Amino acid sequence: MAAQREIITLACSECKRRNYTTTKNRRKHPDRVEHRKYCPFDRKHTIHKETR
Ligand SMILES: [Zn+2]
Repeated sequence: MAAQREIITLACSECKRRNYTTTKNRRKHPDRVEHRKYCPFDRKHTIHKETR
């Protein structure tokens, strides 16, 4: 059985653009996750937060 992996969208915390989609395991991460990723609009790494 596959784990319950859910597709989520990551939005840049600075410009609010939705730059990435990823998956996460909802059992391991019941709350919203954050990742440091490169934002091509800000041209630097920023915190990207899970959004819906
Ligand atoms: Zn940005």
